[in-house]
Amino acid sequence: MKGLAVLGSTGTVGESTLAVAAAHPERFRVVALAARGNDELLYRQCERHRPELAAMLEPAAAARLAARLRAGGLRTQVLAGAEALLTVARMPQAELVMAAIVGAAGLAPTLAAAAAGKQLLLANKESLVLAGPLLVEAARRAGTRILPIDSEHNAVFQCLPPRAAEARAPGVRRIVLTASGGPFLRARREELAAVTPEQAMAHPNWRMGPKISVDSATLMNKGLELIEACHLFALTPDEVAVVIHPQSIVHSLVEYQDGSMLASLSQPDMRVPIAHALGWPERIASGAAALDLVQVGRLSFEAPDLERFPCLALAGQAARAGGSAPAVLNAANEVAVAAFLARRLNFAGIAGVIESVLQRHETGPVSSLEDALAADAWARRRAESLLTAPRAAGA
Ligand code: MG
Repeated sequence: MKGLAVLGSTGTVGESTLAVAAAHPERFRVVALAARGNDELLYRQCERHRPELAAMLEPAAAARLAARLRAGGLRTQVLAGAEALLTVARMPQAELVMAAIVGAAGLAPTLAAAAAGKQLLLANKESLVLAGPLLVEAARRAGTRILPIDSEHNAVFQCLPPRAAEARAPGVRRIVLTASGGPFLRARREELAAVTPEQAMAHPNWRMGPKISVDSATLMNKGLELIEACHLFALTPDEVAVVIHPQSIVHSLVEYQDGSMLASLSQPDMRVPIAHALGWPERIASGAAALDLVQVGRLSFEAPDLERFPCLALAGQAARAGGSAPAVLNAANEVAVAAFLARRLNFAGIAGVIESVLQRHETGPVSSLEDALAADAWARRRAESLLTAPRAAGA
């Protein structure tokens, strides 16, 4: 029986993780849950999974949760604030930690879990983008593994030789990340300026939260995944290719020196990579339907259009620059996406803000959590000032 802590339990990955874990009560015991501010859902999760600990980033939400748990006669202990997330990440009863907090807020608890030697199920791609070398090194020093949950990286992990993750696998020529292309794959450039947050969130294949849905629509998600892949698999940006694959059935591929390519295929259902990582190195049921190849019929692939989707090119530039550039790219993107969702910025303006912030940035090294957070904070201020300037890019 393995103790499982879920950071970001009220998000879509968190909910899917709890669903898979609950289907295997003989294997997993949920020992802690952590969320930002959704105390209603966290209460229901506590009722269902009876964790020892529940942490909430927002103190008012934590107070509401504690009151409801008391009224319901549940014994789950409630903690509040950023420190509480670290307590969950390091909890001795947790052997497995799912890191599924969205955005830069997930970095410190993810690093803490790796440093504490937890088997890290990593869904928070931003922590690799902000501080990839630190996270990989923390896991290596603690003698633990990072099991990628992002469907593409999980697919690559499955296609690599055993035990080769986080170090360069022998015989690999390159990897190919697949991208659905998002809801605007066929949209003309002029049409992109006018798209709404509702349209951007209507992803054709995956059910995801708002931030990652917008990232998928701009292809920034694939750009962040390129950076993520470089750290996870010890590759250079030039060894990571991106192809558009609208069916989202092939989740990614590894190309070997002999010309062989290995691919991982499944339904686009996050329970598949989650079950893979929860059960690893064994295989357990995910609850997802099996793939019917005849019903799928056709798989197609095409090159991404970097002119209509400049965010992917910007991410490639940041990956090549290295150091603090990916952290700056990520922070500028978070601010721009939030502004788009709040209707303060149009869709095309997202790339405009990121490009302006990157242009003004002087790349420096990231050798500590503080360096990563300083680059992140600088880029957020810079992006915000662009948004409030009278001639904000694309606003
Ligand atoms: Mg992905």
